[in-house]
Amino acid sequence: MVSDQIQSGVAVADFSASPKARIRSTGMDAVRLDGGFWAKHFERMRDVSLPMLRDLAADPECGHVYDNLRIAAGTKQGEFKGVEWSDEWAYKWIEAAAAIYRTDPSAELDRQMDELIDLIAAAQEPDGYLASQTTSRGRERFIDPNHHECYVMGHLMTAACIHHRATGKANLLDVARRTADHLCEQFKGMNPRMAHFPHNPSMIMGAVELYRTTGERQYLELAATVVDMRGRFNHIKQNFQGDLTQDRVPLREETRIVGHAVFYTYLYAGAADVYLENGDETLLAPLERLWRDLVNTKMYITGGCAAMDKGTSIRPVRKGLDHVHEAAGPAYWLPNAMAYNETCDQIGAFLWAWRMLAISGEARYADAMEREMYNGFLPGVSLDGRLWFYSNALRCHGAAHEERVHPVAQRFQIGFEGRRICCPTNALRTLTEIRGYLYGLTKEGLWLHFYAASEFDSGAWALRQRTDYPWDGAVRLEIRRAPEGEAALFARIPEWAEGASVRVNGMAFEGEATPGAYAAIRRVWKPGDQVELDLPMEARLVKAHPKVEEARGQAAVVRGPLVYCVESPDLPDGVKVENVCLKRGRTWTPRWRADLLDGVMVLEAETPVVRDGDWSDCLYKPLGAESFDTAIVRLIPYYAWANRGLSEMSVWMPLV
Ligand SMILES: [Zn+2]
Repeated sequence: MVSDQIQSGVAVADFSASPKARIRSTGMDAVRLDGGFWAKHFERMRDVSLPMLRDLAADPECGHVYDNLRIAAGTKQGEFKGVEWSDEWAYKWIEAAAAIYRTDPSAELDRQMDELIDLIAAAQEPDGYLASQTTSRGRERFIDPNHHECYVMGHLMTAACIHHRATGKANLLDVARRTADHLCEQFKGMNPRMAHFPHNPSMIMGAVELYRTTGERQYLELAATVVDMRGRFNHIKQNFQGDLTQDRVPLREETRIVGHAVFYTYLYAGAADVYLENGDETLLAPLERLWRDLVNTKMYITGGCAAMDKGTSIRPVRKGLDHVHEAAGPAYWLPNAMAYNETCDQIGAFLWAWRMLAISGEARYADAMEREMYNGFLPGVSLDGRLWFYSNALRCHGAAHEERVHPVAQRFQIGFEGRRICCPTNALRTLTEIRGYLYGLTKEGLWLHFYAASEFDSGAWALRQRTDYPWDGAVRLEIRRAPEGEAALFARIPEWAEGASVRVNGMAFEGEATPGAYAAIRRVWKPGDQVELDLPMEARLVKAHPKVEEARGQAAVVRGPLVYCVESPDLPDGVKVENVCLKRGRTWTPRWRADLLDGVMVLEAETPVVRDGDWSDCLYKPLGAESFDTAIVRLIPYYAWANRGLSEMSVWMPLV
């Protein structure tokens, strides 16, 4: 008998009682990272980014986050400083701190969380409303969606659930419930006046998680209401922002990804959460359709989700076009140097894909999540954990790069003057919670979504996973405890892993090990059983759809789940990024470099180099003046670029 008992523990999102969850989440507390790639990033968040982001939030000259709450509470005189969404810095910091606290409990961290929660609670108004940007200014509530009231309150709800699960305390949960009760009141009866306010719809995921935590049905109904209101009130022009906020067309009728990429990823992740809980089947087909539109026409090879900084939506409307920013562009329009790709966008896509994976059990969603983990949001943090990217371009021209609002060529330090406060804490919370995404559970067995050196121990299952993934494709599993009777281990074979092999106790696995699917290894397990999974890790050249003009005639080099790039510090003298070409059939040799970029597997090859003279005073030249030779070129994982000063970089390289 396989136990029905599924323990979710400290889940990032708790699907343990979700009627439509095919795969349940496992608790972060069920997984111990055991050295390796993700442990290193977790430890950097814990040891460097978490304390730094707290100090900067508390610093009145930098974040001013604590002071904004104090001013709203009336315990300090002064003016609110920073962006309208200042409060979310506090909430995502607490979420990350709670995730770390569960693994590394310390009285000091608990005290720091409580100190901040006291400030948050004091800034809450008697009716539950909580947004220091409004309260501190004595400003009227809900007059402009760009005041981001719903956005910050959404993150409060999510953080409160994680904090409660990790610490057992209810101090933040009580605050969040009062806020959620207030929002339920505001949105009651689908109040048209509120239709356009959750433009960043973090409150959908937040309210669903609060429902999962408290069992209060009205929070789920609040989330469903926000989903249902999208596109339904497009006749109310006040505060209407059209395609920017996915508000022109109701979600159930939408056929294409449009608008702000944090908004659309959070909206669809939230709608998937609603489906997981209330089983509203009318949501599922649109979510699947929109996901396909994203990954088939609008996603970068790195997982980037927003091609456009500022522009217009492609959908014609009666009076012109909708202005959009930080948004998905038209299909196949994926500029490299001017890519927007906010780190939060890729996190949003990761959150959406995780919910689709839970619903469907289909490995393609896990493949997309892995793309985001390694290439989408990991590049958003410097290797020392102190600097950040908001935009993630695929081509950088170094000192000559034309910068827009957010730097592309060099990472920045967070602060209220730069407006870019969302990504650092979003990366912080996601990287500290990564162990909550590695495994999944069903009645049939244990699912291995992502490979990482770790120990899993929860309910009927305990196992040890040894691997040096993503540098090496060998994964070794040792069963320590398993359910009685037949049960399955579902091991994901990544979409690129053609030729993957599985052995059980030294014998070849006779079932399917198909790329882009889970290999279901069913047997009666006993302690000491061994599974050997070997994923082929040869470097591969990848091309883009022919309609992606910016990648036309070019290829990118990938190895395992990692996208590689060429960066100027790795090039021989006299060779520039623009000179480096790729040729079919060349072998890119992996070489471990412990001394480089905190330890990376580089790829090296003798590859063609094109030289075509001076371009300083012309835009076009006759073909034929160029010459070719070769050079030994080193590529690095894309996530590790921009850690050695100002540089040039490219993911795509011309094929010759
Ligand atoms: Zn962001």
